[in-house]
Amino acid sequence: MCIFCRIIKDEKETNFIYQDKDIVAFRDINPAAPVHILIVPRKHIESINHLEKKDKSLIGKMFLIAKQIAKEQNVAEKGYKLIFNVGRGGGQIIDHVHLHLLSGRIGKMP
Ligand code: 5GP
Ligand code: ZN
Repeated sequence: MCIFCRIIKDEKETNFIYQDKDIVAFRDINPAAPVHILIVPRKHIESINHLEKKDKSLIGKMFLIAKQIAKEQNVAEKGYKLIFNVGRGGGQIIDHVHLHLLSGRIGKMP
């Protein structure tokens, strides 16, 4: 089982910033910016390369949640980045789709 599936299953991360039946969000363990949150579907999808048509609404929902979290974290006005790393060459380390929400001074990203 992948790290993110384990986090979701065990609810090991007690501090979920957001959770519903489809999606969870939590802070990155190694933040590259003052605000660095990962928005993660409960469903294990390896990467954007593995997306299927049926995942369309799930991915759309991830962006709406990102928007909501940005507002709650008070970075909506200031601005932020939303990033999907795809594959090793794209900096993806964890093979479970996740959307990075970053704001503030952004350092080195994988
Ligand atoms: P990727 O490089 O795959 O796009 O991003 C994976 C991110 O997950 C990295 O920024 C890394 O710091 C973060 N990460 C890896 N393992 C854990 C973990 O166990 N808990 C949390 N909260 N973040 C993790
Ligand atoms: Zn997984």
